[in-house]
Amino acid sequence: MKNNKSPEKAATLPLHTADIQHSLIQLFELIHRSHTLSFSNEDGVERAVHFGRVIFRSHNTIGRGTMVIEVQCACRSCGNGCDWKEKNLVMKLRFTSKTRASELNFLEEMEAIAKEHSMHRWVLNHLPKIYCSFYLHLRDDSPQPNLERQFRDVYEMRVVRGTIQERLEPLTSLETAKECAQVFYDVLQCHHWVWQHPKILHRDISQGNIMVRVKDGRKYGVLNDWDLASWADDLQKVATSRYRTGTRPSMAHEQQAHRWEGPHQYRHDLEALFYVMVLFTFLYSKPGKAVSKPVDEQFHYEKWHQFDDGTLYSKKCMIMALNSPWEPPVTSFFIHFSDWLYDIKGCFCWGFNEQGIVMQTKRDAEQRGIQSRTQNVLSYKDDELGGHITYKKMVQIMHRFNEQELHTYDGEAEQYLESQEIDSESD
Ligand SMILES: [Zn+2]
Repeated sequence: MKNNKSPEKAATLPLHTADIQHSLIQLFELIHRSHTLSFSNEDGVERAVHFGRVIFRSHNTIGRGTMVIEVQCACRSCGNGCDWKEKNLVMKLRFTSKTRASELNFLEEMEAIAKEHSMHRWVLNHLPKIYCSFYLHLRDDSPQPNLERQFRDVYEMRVVRGTIQERLEPLTSLETAKECAQVFYDVLQCHHWVWQHPKILHRDISQGNIMVRVKDGRKYGVLNDWDLASWADDLQKVATSRYRTGTRPSMAHEQQAHRWEGPHQYRHDLEALFYVMVLFTFLYSKPGKAVSKPVDEQFHYEKWHQFDDGTLYSKKCMIMALNSPWEPPVTSFFIHFSDWLYDIKGCFCWGFNEQGIVMQTKRDAEQRGIQSRTQNVLSYKDDELGGHITYKKMVQIMHRFNEQELHTYDGEAEQYLESQEIDSESD
C-alpha cells in the first residue's frame, strides 16, 4: 500500500470493505441461480444484494479476467429507504493471479485530492464510484464439475477481488459522433489529472474501461477500472515481468516487443487511447451497431482481438512508421474522427522517428567509446518522444471536433488553449 496517504484523509471517506463469508464456488452458484448474497460491511452495516444478469466478461487482459453482474439492493431496510435502494449497482469481480494494490486505495486518494479544492472537483464526474470492496475467502472451493465447466476460463485464477459500484454505461450507449469525441476527450483530461495530482498512472486504457455516466441529462466520459494502475513512484521499481499491463489490442506497441523492458510511461497510455479510437471507429457503423463483417486488407483491425503480441507489434509499427501509407479506417458515421487520428498519428510518427535517430546517434557514439554530446541527444526526453507526444499536444488536437468546441474541464488544458489563442492572435 502507498505510504504518502495521510490516515486522516482516508478516515473521512465513505468507502467500505465488505466481509463476505462465501467461497468463489458458492458465489458462482448464487450468481448462476440469480440468488441473494448477504454480507456485512466492516462497519457492521448489514447488506444484501440480489444478482441479475452477467453483463460483461472479459479474458483478454493480461493476467486478469473480469466479470460484471447486475445487482440490486435486497437489504431488510429497503422499505425504509436504505442508501443503496435507488442506486443502479453492479458487482465487478476480478480474477487475478496475484494480489495487486487495490483499486480502492487509488480511488480513495483521487477522491481526497479532488475534494481538497473546487478547481479539482470536475474530475469526480469522470471517476468510478465504488460503494464497497471485498476479497473472497478461498476456502471450501472444491471443484464442482458443472460450475467449473461454465466458468472454466476464470476458474484457475484463484485470487478474487470484488467491488459493488455504480453502474456505468458502455461507449456503445452513445448516440452521436460528437458525444463519442467528448467522452474520449473527457478521458484524456481525467487520465492526465490523475497522473499530475494523485500521481497515479492508469496503464490499461481499453474500450471496455471507457464508460459513460449520465448525470442531470449530461453524459460524462469515465475512466473505469484502476486495477492495473500504479503509483508514479513505483513505476521504476516494478520487476520487468510486471511492466506489461493492458489489454492487447490497445496496448502501446513498444510493450508488445520481445525486448521491451519498461518502464510504463504516460505516453504509452496515450498510444492506447489512439488504438481504442481507431478500433472503435472502424468496428462500429455507429456506437450501438457493430459492422457486420469488417475487413481491412492491410491492417486487419477486425482480428486485433485475436492476434498475439508479435503480430500486433508489427501491425502497429506499420502504422507508426513515418512513411506509412496509413489512413484512418473510419466508418462514415465517424468520418470527423479522421482529423484527430491523422494528427495524433502524425505526432507519434515524428516522435518515433526522432527516438530512432537519437538511439542511433547514441549507439554510434558508444561504438567510438565516447558519449554523444549532440544537443538533441542530451536534451531528448523519451517519456514525451522528444516533445512530440504530450498532454498539451493532445489537448490541442482533441478540444475541437468537426469544427465545434468540446467541453474542457481541466484547468491545465484551459491554460494551454488560452495561450494558444494568444499565440494565434499575435501572429
Ligand atoms: Zn436496501
